[in-house]
Amino acid sequence: MDFKQLIRPHILKLQPYASARDEYSGKEGTFLDANENPFSSVSGENFNRYPDPYQWELKHKLSLLKGVSPESIFLGNGSDEPIDLLIKAVCEPLQNNIVIMPPTYGMYKVCADIQQVQVQQAPLSEDFDIDLDNVFDAVNAATKMIWVCSPNNPSGNLVNRDSIFQILKAFPEKLVVVDEAYIDFAESVSFITELRNFENLVVLQTFSKAWGMAGLRLGVAYCNPFIIKILNKIKYPYNLNILSQQKLSEALDKVKEKNEFVHDINLLREKLAGNLKQIPSVIKIFPSDSNMLLVKFIEAKKLFNYLLDQKVIVRDRSNVVLCEDCLRLSIGTEAENEILMKAIISLV
Ligand SMILES: *Cc1c(COP(=O)(O)O)cnc(C)c1O
Repeated sequence: MDFKQLIRPHILKLQPYASARDEYSGKEGTFLDANENPFSSVSGENFNRYPDPYQWELKHKLSLLKGVSPESIFLGNGSDEPIDLLIKAVCEPLQNNIVIMPPTYGMYKVCADIQQVQVQQAPLSEDFDIDLDNVFDAVNAATKMIWVCSPNNPSGNLVNRDSIFQILKAFPEKLVVVDEAYIDFAESVSFITELRNFENLVVLQTFSKAWGMAGLRLGVAYCNPFIIKILNKIKYPYNLNILSQQKLSEALDKVKEKNEFVHDINLLREKLAGNLKQIPSVIKIFPSDSNMLLVKFIEAKKLFNYLLDQKVIVRDRSNVVLCEDCLRLSIGTEAENEILMKAIISLV
């Protein structure tokens, strides 16, 4: 891959901000270089020192878990951060475009819109799988990135692996981003294992869903070290705060607990799907490999508002392409799912 062609020229040349912790990264010493409070924090904890800007300890831990080198890992303030940075790094405003496959996660388009980067749509098929004809029609010479979401949000399903491979092979000079926010719930191997085969591949994951750490804002991009270096150049110097870094380090020792959450949530999803099947106003429950169910109802809007009145909040996707009359239901606890079911049944 010709990275010089991929990255925006002024970003390639950019001289990034050098923080105090860039210029001296040793651990021992008398630190009088960053204008920190030398005592402690007003809150009582020790948050008075700036965190490691590149989070090396965490990346080493994560690299053992994921089988990739620490240099292939970017940690972000949620995966929304790498989504934004990737577009900033490669797309010239008003010149380049990205290809997305609606219905899909909304942030790809929002981040592109903010940068005045054009968005080309290659809609998924009716069963929410990649439509390669649509993709090949949407991609042109000005396309810099192709965004795939698998398992897809809001439909919840894994998309066809082979189609992703075809895209990776057909466009070796464009970035192919595979957003795997829900991969822990799916019985499928991550595309992380393909990083060694495709220089144009970026895999996004997050600690917000299966790991249950949405409030700490922790997302990850895995890709070749050249692109990671570019992302490091354009990120905020201390993009992950100390508390999030500490908690992530603890969490990485608890893969078993994460897997138990996944196991329980997947069982609850199947139970909820089974219960919804009995309901006459349910037209279709789409297959899910994630912690959400996209469900087509008779008069979804009416149901959505009725549920809101009962203080049961689901996501109305009925105005989204291919999701007419669909609501997206996050899998809750057993008790929460029962409240949802009772509320749905009580609408007559
Ligand atoms: C939730 C979600 C994310 C964002 O995750 P954060 O790490 O919380 O920013 C990214 N992609 C998809 C498809 C999601 O559903």
